[in-house]
Amino acid sequence: MSDYPKIKINLPAVKENAEELMKKFNGEIIGVTKGVCANPRIVEAMKSAGIKKLGDSRIKNLKWLKSKFDEELMLLRIPMKSEAEEVVRFSDVSLNSEISVLERISEEAERWGKNHSVIIMVDIGDRREGVLPGNLTDIVSETKKLSNLIIKGIGTNLGCFSGKLPTKKDMKRLIELKDQIENQIRIDLSVLSGGSTVNLKLVEENNLPKEINQLRIGEAILLGKSVTQNRNIDYLNQNTMELKTEIIELKKKHSEVLGKTGQNAFGENPNLNGEGKKERAIVGIGRQDTNPKNLEPKKNGIQILGASSDHTILDVSNFEDDLDVGDILSFSLDYSSMLRGFTSQYVNIEY
Ligand SMILES: *Cc1c(COP(=O)(O)O)cnc(C)c1O
Repeated sequence: MSDYPKIKINLPAVKENAEELMKKFNGEIIGVTKGVCANPRIVEAMKSAGIKKLGDSRIKNLKWLKSKFDEELMLLRIPMKSEAEEVVRFSDVSLNSEISVLERISEEAERWGKNHSVIIMVDIGDRREGVLPGNLTDIVSETKKLSNLIIKGIGTNLGCFSGKLPTKKDMKRLIELKDQIENQIRIDLSVLSGGSTVNLKLVEENNLPKEINQLRIGEAILLGKSVTQNRNIDYLNQNTMELKTEIIELKKKHSEVLGKTGQNAFGENPNLNGEGKKERAIVGIGRQDTNPKNLEPKKNGIQILGASSDHTILDVSNFEDDLDVGDILSFSLDYSSMLRGFTSQYVNIEY
């Protein structure tokens, strides 16, 4: 059976990225595995680089990680009330912003005879998860009353939803909030969890205050990139993985569509207006398997025209070598195309 499409992973490059980041950042790094569905070989690569804690957003991944690894596990997505039991059983620490969910987690922790650690998330500008700064003291003091919960600290997430870029001022705000809470309540918040890959810029520019002692890093380890800043991180490897696809059709075709058009399979109105006859290739991968428009061809002279669920259409008129049906074309991935690639059961993994 064909094993295309497939993602080929360069494990030493992943390991090197993790090592490099451990050198650059003095605090602790949570190795984030959600982008690769907690792929075991990638987890091993992170571990061998010295990463001691793992984070994932899905209980299913954490449950699996718990069965295979001894590392401390962090649940990154603020939990659903309905998964409180699994949170306690399959993660050691979770990020939280809702008191009613914390109450459920506390009940389950008590029921399972376990202590569960929590980090309270505060929204300092990305407008995704987190309590507003003004409500932080209240939720921390309410949480403190709950049994079997240990409040480890506070944290924030930036970049992922709105693209908000973290600043030194944002990080100082987090420190101020910690000081304020510690003054108002008798509590020791030992962890200040500052953010994700997007925060590395602050580390590089010496603008991350030393009090920020934890970062949760996925993309930089996995791809050596920061999508929010639209950059390759120059001291990391970008050759950590590539997507290999097979050409299933190769023909010279007009780019103009014949006849009237409606919406495509994804409810969009693509504007495919004419540039005349072009050499076009179709590769056997689609939007069910990756985010085709964000793929980057490894070789010059290939342009991605678009994709439907199972087909990706390329303009190869400017490709310098001969192509044939059955040839393999390789692409580098960005975060979204990697995420979907690992999630699709139709994409194979090779090391
Ligand atoms: C995904 C995620 C991260 C990791 O983000 P990267 O950009 O991949 O480094 C960190 N924290 C939270 C809460 C996340 O959801």
